[in-house]
Amino acid sequence: MLTKIKTLRPTYAEINLANYKHNIEVAKSLSKSKIIAIVKADAYGHGAIKLSKFAYEQCDVKDFGVATIEEGVNLRNVLPTDARIITLGYIDEHHFEELLHHKITPTVFDKSIMAKLDKFAKGNNVVLDVVLKIDTGMNRLGFGLNTDFNELVESYSNLNIVLMMTHLSSSDTDLDYTKWQINRFDEYLKRYNVKAETSVFNSSAICFYSNKYTYTRPGIMSYGYVYPENRFGLKPVMSIYSKLIHIKRLKKGEKISYNQTFTASKDMKIGVIPIGYADGYFRALSNKGVMFVNGKPCNVVGTVCMDMTMIDITHLNESDLDCEVEVLGKHIDAEQIAKMCNTISYEIVCAISDRIPRVYINA
Ligand SMILES: *Cc1c(COP(=O)(O)O)cnc(C)c1O
Repeated sequence: MLTKIKTLRPTYAEINLANYKHNIEVAKSLSKSKIIAIVKADAYGHGAIKLSKFAYEQCDVKDFGVATIEEGVNLRNVLPTDARIITLGYIDEHHFEELLHHKITPTVFDKSIMAKLDKFAKGNNVVLDVVLKIDTGMNRLGFGLNTDFNELVESYSNLNIVLMMTHLSSSDTDLDYTKWQINRFDEYLKRYNVKAETSVFNSSAICFYSNKYTYTRPGIMSYGYVYPENRFGLKPVMSIYSKLIHIKRLKKGEKISYNQTFTASKDMKIGVIPIGYADGYFRALSNKGVMFVNGKPCNVVGTVCMDMTMIDITHLNESDLDCEVEVLGKHIDAEQIAKMCNTISYEIVCAISDRIPRVYINA
């Protein structure tokens, strides 16, 4: 954590809580079910503590999904015990004390972890709720479809399976594969007459398929994005603004930044912006990115540095120069930046480092 000082760097991320609430409502209404708000990876870079508390208090969300036990413990510090915190990722025996102490619900994905957790529960004279992950085709975590469900229930009597979950690998890109995964999950539940609650859908499944399970698990859509197209009125939650901190006049033929990857084709005016790849503004945006000053596009010129980036401001008026610089916002969203970097919006927002202060608005 950085020392908090009054005057911050002029670069900050604005997190719009009203937009978050709007997206949560869209997710709920498309899901026609309760949701597990996915707030792993510090709520995809938006700030898990703030957003979870807000979702609990203002959006009637009672279930939260994190990746790691550490993320879960951080949330428990701000969420009351009737909020359920589920770890979606990996746990092992080193985490059991924390799980119990902070009332965190783990996802279990193989017999070895169930056996150890069951023994721990017996030793502590408690019955622990667990989420059971079935692998229907992601081939990451989860029990295979040949697992005898009844045997799990009988063998681990101090574990209470409260939720059956599977994860879709391609709900944004492959209809047939998604249907195949859904069918396999349904068949499994039917074969063992499973009575527990269920959860299958992530964001793109929520947007493109009809949900029939107890909970959905919206992540990226709650932050305003869904691949491949947003026709659901989702509103991006994060914007990033900065300032021109220095202006440089170049003569035709002069070069900019490391390794001289940009040469001025005419006399030019260049602005220096205090954001770089250490802030999560990817180096892949060198000579590709665009920022907006007073709504006017300004190309990134030269290599993105660790802490600074240069943009072409030759075409700006004197009066534009005091304006905020939009790095991410209404003229350029994370999906567009992602395309320039050959990645997805998830990676763009998750990468914004904690050197950039988050400013919360519209609570
Ligand atoms: C991250 C994650 C989600 C959320 O996925 P989005 O595509 O962001 O909606 C849902 N379920 C699991 C198990 C996850 O790991």
